[in-house]
Parts: sequence; C-alpha cells; structure tokens
Amino acid sequence: MRIAMISEHASPLAALGGEDAGGQNTHVAELSTALADLGHEVRVYTRRDATSLPPAAVMRDGVTVVHVPAGPARALPKDALLPYMGDFGRWLGAQWDRDPWVPDVVHAHFWMSGLAAITAAPDRGIPVVQTYHALGTVKRRHQGGADTSPPQRIGFERRIGRTVDRVVAQCQEEIAELVRMGVPRRRIVLIPSGVDGTRFSPDGPVAPRPAGVPRILSVGRLVERKGFAELIRTLPLVPGAECVVVGGPPAADLGSDPEARRLSRVAAEAGVAGRVHLAGQVPPALMPEWYRSADVVAAVPWYEPFGLTPLEAMACGRPVVATAVGGLVDTVVDRVTGDLVPPHDPRALGTTLRRLLDDDLRRLAYGAAALDRARRCYSWQRAAGQLEVVYAAVGATAGQRRTSEAVAG
Ligand code: UDP
Repeated sequence: MRIAMISEHASPLAALGGEDAGGQNTHVAELSTALADLGHEVRVYTRRDATSLPPAAVMRDGVTVVHVPAGPARALPKDALLPYMGDFGRWLGAQWDRDPWVPDVVHAHFWMSGLAAITAAPDRGIPVVQTYHALGTVKRRHQGGADTSPPQRIGFERRIGRTVDRVVAQCQEEIAELVRMGVPRRRIVLIPSGVDGTRFSPDGPVAPRPAGVPRILSVGRLVERKGFAELIRTLPLVPGAECVVVGGPPAADLGSDPEARRLSRVAAEAGVAGRVHLAGQVPPALMPEWYRSADVVAAVPWYEPFGLTPLEAMACGRPVVATAVGGLVDTVVDRVTGDLVPPHDPRALGTTLRRLLDDDLRRLAYGAAALDRARRCYSWQRAAGQLEVVYAAVGATAGQRRTSEAVAG
C-alpha cells in the first residue's frame, strides 16, 4: 500500500525532548519504519519549519519525509499552527493531483493533521484514519485557563471524528472519551503504541550513577502536566534517593528554560535541591542507558494519552511507579509490573516510592514482569500489523464508495 502519514508539527526526523517534540515524533517514525518493513511505501508529510530543510528526505528504505511549505519556514509552537492548516491541506491535494504517487490511505496524527487530511483526501476518494495523540476535551479539563490550544480545537476534533473512516484510540480511557465526543463506537479501533525491544532492553551500557544512592528516573518534555514538580515535592518522603529528570532543552540551555527554572525552585523550596538532577535532552539512542541506570522509573503525569516512556522503562526491565491515568492504566499492571497511584497525591506517591526502593525483591519481580509484558504485548510490528488490517478495510470501503458513486453518476 501507499500510505501517507500526516504529522504537521512532529517530524520523525526531529530531536526529542523539546516542548513540542516527544511521543508523536517517535510514534510516527517507528510506525512508518514497521510499515515499510511489511513492504508498504510510506510518505510522512510534516511542516517545513526551517529554511535548511530539503523538499523531501529519505528516512530509510520505503519511508520518505516530505516537508510541506505551509506557514513560515521556522519553528513555531504547535498551538500557533492552525492558521496554516488550510494551506497544508490544499498543498497535499494539489500534490496528489499532479504526482503519480497518490496514497491508498491517509493516516493523520494530531487534530491539526486531521484538518489537513479532511481538506485533501475525501474529495479524492482517499480514506482517512485519525490518531489524535491527545484530546482537547481532556487537556481543557486538566489545564483549564492555562490551556493554550486554539479555542476551536474541541469543535474541530468532533468534526474530524465524525468525518474520518476510522479513529485509532491508544488506550481504553480514550475510547470512552471519543464516544462522549460523539464519535461512533464502530469507527473506533484500539491500537496501542509499541516499543522497540531491540533498543530498549535490560542488557547494554548503563549511564553513570553515584554508588549507593537509589535513583528515581523520570523522562519527558519539560511541561507542567508531566508532574515533575509533584515528584520532586515527594522527595522528603523518600530519604536518601536521588531524582533524575531527563528531557527538555540540551543541558547547556536548561538555565534559560522556564520550566527547568521552576523545577529547580520547587526542589529548593522542598529542601531537596541536592538530590534533584535535571539532565536535559538525551538523544534517543542513549535513552536505554538512562532507564537501565534507574532503580525505579516514575511516570506521574496529570493525564497521558498513551505514554511511551513507562513502556520504554518496562522494556529495559525496570519497575514503574505511575499515576493511574490514560494509557498508563493499560500498560502498567498494578502490583505486577509496577505500582499505580492516584494523580496529585504526594503522600501516596512518596510512600509507594519509598516502599519500593526498600524492597529489592519486589523491584526485581516487577522488573521481570514488566520486561515480559513489554515484549509480549507492545511491539511496533504488532501495531503496524493491526494498522495494516485497518487500512485494508477502509481502502475496500472507499473503493466500494467510488464504484457506487460512479454507477450513480
Ligand atoms: N525522549 C528522548 N529524549 C529526551 C526526552 C524524551 O528521546 O530527552 C523520548 C522518549 O524516549 C519517548 C518520547 O521522547 O520516546 C516521549 O514520549 P511520551 O509518549 O512519553 O511523551 P509525549 O512527548 O508524547 O508527551
């Protein structure tokens, strides 16, 4: 099949850990790779956000990244991209009208890509599959007035959900949310993300760490909702342990990052500044070393559409303490591969971390079960195989639609 992935702000070629570069970039890169391995031809359409970018770049055999000229050729926050989505969609349509490479299916990632997709694909008889990655309703519920999404987001997400051929949900909680938004249940399919078990595994180099100091590791973009501040505030309940936060800008630039500065203030106020280390951005290739260096990985966001980092930790055989939200409820099995705690509950989090760090046997058991679960249930090959079935089904329906339109016309 010819598959068009649309990922307007998240290029599979971008560096990860910055404010708008994380799970979606990894997800699109890994899925495209796994689909190409199955013999499909993938083109990833992402916004041209630097003048230095070529019109197209081969990512690997079978995967080409196309840089779409929509809006200024410089980095912009994703919440500022809505005005350019019309141009993005029209560019795609024009491209598919003149290029012999016309996709059999379009898979849009994030709601703004969905807008571009429904501008270009349905009129040309091309089916559309949508993965939201995050939902405006959930973000608004948790962030209230601090939510910087365009006000039209929730309305557009509803419209996309009712227009596209299939919506891919990444966790059970998202299915419920989509149904509440009015997306017909029969159009929703659950396909969790995966993890690359050849890269993320217990064996291999380990990032340096001080001897005799238990390490709690937390990884993610430095944004408030990832819960790093809440984690740091629990440290007085976990005496002797250090807390390492990976993510954000490169280490040299942390001093000018507002969230990094806030986290340092939180650590100072809690009297734990000496036990908190902000490591900054780590290249994906080195991430396994960091997970391996941890005794426990903490993933304590306020909400999480899927959450790749706990799964990566599990694939490295590490126990995970996670808040019981979104995708983490599906990936982390409470008291089997890790512990789930309620969000915004520092006492529960602190007590759970301390108990787990005090219990070597339990950590070992959790780590082994986590590795087993990550390997058996969450591979990108599995996700790509499930998607292949979805693409074929929507392709067949679109084909029938075109035939009956031709007969009627
Ligand atoms: N990541 C990375 N380097 C960093 C921080 C994060 O490579 O310094 C990667 C991490 O390994 C994971 C992704 O970024 O693959 C974050 O995905 P997740 O789903 O946890 O969070 P999101 O960014 O989607 O909110």
